[in-house]
Amino acid sequence: MIGQRRLLARLGERAVQGDVAHAYELSGPRSIGKRTVAIRLAQTLLCTSEPGVAGGCGTCLACRKIDHETHPDVRVITRQVDLERDPDKKFIAIEQIREMQQDLALRPLEGRWRVVIVDDAADLSEHAEVALLKTLEEPPRHAVLLLLTPTPARLLETIRSRLLPLPLRLVATAEIAEGLARRFGAEARKHAATAAGRPGVAIALAADEAARKARRALENEFYRLVGSGLTDRFAWAVDLAESERDTQKRNEAIELRLGEWGELARDAAVAAHGAERALRPDRASESARLADTVGRRELVDLALAMDRWRRDVVESNVNARMLLELFVLRLPYTAALAGTHA
Ligand SMILES: [Zn+2]
Repeated sequence: MIGQRRLLARLGERAVQGDVAHAYELSGPRSIGKRTVAIRLAQTLLCTSEPGVAGGCGTCLACRKIDHETHPDVRVITRQVDLERDPDKKFIAIEQIREMQQDLALRPLEGRWRVVIVDDAADLSEHAEVALLKTLEEPPRHAVLLLLTPTPARLLETIRSRLLPLPLRLVATAEIAEGLARRFGAEARKHAATAAGRPGVAIALAADEAARKARRALENEFYRLVGSGLTDRFAWAVDLAESERDTQKRNEAIELRLGEWGELARDAAVAAHGAERALRPDRASESARLADTVGRRELVDLALAMDRWRRDVVESNVNARMLLELFVLRLPYTAALAGTHA
């Protein structure tokens, strides 16, 4: 596991002594390790090694079953999307919660606890959330619920008040680099800075050629937009706004772009100030071209604005098309990047 060690150790020590809350809220940005921490907590609770180990031993049958999602006392609830049959199914449905509750009422089959992981808890439908509240109000003695979300503010206050908050923090680049080197060899260290504190991003980049290509493609999309005129930009905005029937997926596509591109704008701003602290050093030439044509102040404002819009997309129901159109109007134009990233 990369990062969150202190949090896990603290929780693990308590859990090993039987000091366990019935419900936790694991929050923090995407790819920071919420799911991994949840799995490790489940392993801590259900590991059969003696004496108990914080984080679980990782090798006993119980730990391995949890890794393979086959442990009968651990249930992961996620949003199920079947666009063919039901394009409106965007939420974790109340049926999923009811089914979990029937299970949870029974004694654990193999360990001392039943663990329920809800990922992402902000995906719960209104009815599902109200149903879940009942469980949180009167949890069975053996129940441990882990609610994961990057946006805890979207949960009902009555739910949040019953959760023990566990905010996950961004991980230091050096720690990510160490973790990557252990897992993939020294060469993989170079992906650490790029991940900007999120181990999940670093691991995907180090392990997966497709992830690297996808990232490259997104970078090119940004530079192409910066080098295009308004007609092309508006066409791009409409395309993206109408690209996906599943609005949540569409919002994720927008969120991803604003997040990645905010980093590119940030790199250009840093370059404009003459500092060498790029998150994406392999894009130094594009950053320099942006820095040459766009004012420093404007680049800083752009990076900040993208971060704000990204949060708007995640946390509220913004009008996607309007947001994207405003975004392309705000985006500076750099002729030097025109036609270079087709
Ligand atoms: Zn174990």
